[in-house]
Amino acid sequence: MAMVQSSHPDWVEPALPRARRSRQARIVWGSRVVTVGGDAPVRVQSMTNTDTEDAIATAIQVKELAQAGSEIVRITVNTPEAAKAVPYVREQLDRMGIDVPLVGDFHYNGHTLLSDYPACAEALSKYRINPGNVGRGRKKDVQFAQMVEAALRYDRPVRIGVNWGSLDQDLLAGMMDENALRAQPWDARQVMYQALIESALQSAGEAVRLGMAPEQVLISCKVSGVQDLISVYRGLAARTDHPLHLGLTEAGMGTKGTVASATAMGILLQEGIGDTIRVSLTPQPGESRTQEVAVALEILQSLGLRTFNPSVTACPGCGRTTSTVFQELAKQIDDHLRAMMPIWKSRYPGVEKLKVAVMGCIVNGPGESKHADIGISLPGTGEAPAAPVFIDGEKALTLRGEGIAQEFHKLVEGYIERRFGSVTSAH
Ligand code: SF4
Repeated sequence: MAMVQSSHPDWVEPALPRARRSRQARIVWGSRVVTVGGDAPVRVQSMTNTDTEDAIATAIQVKELAQAGSEIVRITVNTPEAAKAVPYVREQLDRMGIDVPLVGDFHYNGHTLLSDYPACAEALSKYRINPGNVGRGRKKDVQFAQMVEAALRYDRPVRIGVNWGSLDQDLLAGMMDENALRAQPWDARQVMYQALIESALQSAGEAVRLGMAPEQVLISCKVSGVQDLISVYRGLAARTDHPLHLGLTEAGMGTKGTVASATAMGILLQEGIGDTIRVSLTPQPGESRTQEVAVALEILQSLGLRTFNPSVTACPGCGRTTSTVFQELAKQIDDHLRAMMPIWKSRYPGVEKLKVAVMGCIVNGPGESKHADIGISLPGTGEAPAAPVFIDGEKALTLRGEGIAQEFHKLVEGYIERRFGSVTSAH
C-alpha cells in the first residue's frame, strides 16, 4: 500500500517578538535606575490626572500607580504653582519609600518653568517636550534650546513627544506645500504621517546637536487610530535608533480603549517596536487611574514579553456550566493571587510565573489543568459532583462537597509555599 505523503511541514516555528534595536536611556531617581531601550525589558509607564498643584493628591496617585506596576510616572507641570509643588510631590513620595522616577509633562511654558523653578527641574527625572507646543516662529528654536539646556544642566533625559493633536503646524504646512508640487501628490494622511515623524526626528536631532547623548533622547509620535499608529511607528522605527515611547493617544474608555491599545501596541511590540508603553485610557466614572497600568501589564504579559502576575486560565463556560460556581472560583483565585502579589513577590521569588487553571467541565478541564502548574476541573451539568485537581501535570486528588473553593485555595497556597518558598525558608 502506498504511503500517504503529508503536505504539512513537521515543524512550525513559534512566533516570538522580534528583538529590538534601540539605544538605551537611563531614567534615574536616587539609587533607582530605570533603563529604557536596548536589552532592557519593555517598561510600563503611566500619567496622573490630579492637579499637580495639589501635591498630596498627586503623590498619593503616583504611589498607587507605582504600586500597581508603573515603572515611570508622568505628571502635568503647567503653571508656576504646579512647578512649585513638584519638589513636594517628590518629597512625599520619598518619605513613603516610593522611588519611582517622575517625568514632567510640559507644553507652551516648559522653558520658563524649568529655568524659574530649579527645584522642580531637579525633582523630575525626565522632561517631556512637545515640539508642536514649544513656541512658533523664531521663538521655537530658542525655547526648545532652553528646555534642552535644562536637561543638560541637570543631566536628565528628554522625550520628544509629538502628538497629532498638536503637530507643528508650520512644519505640516510646509510639507503640504511640497507635496502639492509632486507630480503625483501623496494623500493627506501620508503627508501627516511624514510630518509627525519629521517633527520628532528634527527635534531629536536638534537636541543631540545641542549636546544631548542620543540615547538620552526618547521619541514618541502618538496618534489615536490603530492603523495610523502602526504606520507611523513602523516608519519611525525604520529611521531611528532613539528609544521609542509607544502609546495610542486618546485611546478612549473601557473596552474600546483597552482593545484599541492592545491591538495597536501588540502588533508593534511583536515587531520589536516600542521600548516603553503607556495606555491612555479615559477612566470610567469611579474607576481607578491604575486601570491603565493593569492593561499595560496585561499587554506585555500576554505577548510573553514580561511576567508580572500569576496567570489564571479559565474557560469561558458554556451550556455545560449552568451554575456560576466555576466563574466565582476563577475570580476568587485571580483576585486572591493579585491581592497577595505585593507580599508574595518578595516572599516567593518567581511566583509571578505560576499558572493556575480553573475549568468548567470534563471536555477541556483535565487537559487544560495538566498544562497548568495547578489546575482544577469542576463538574459540569450532569457530571458527578467531583473536581479532580492536577498538580504539575498529574492528577493529585479529587475534591468533593461544599468547600471545594476553600480547599482549592489552600492547595494553591501550599503549592506556592513548596515551589517558591524555599529561598525564604533557607534564610
Ligand atoms: S471546558 Fe467545558 S464548560 Fe468550559 S467551555 Fe469547554 S465545554 Fe464548556
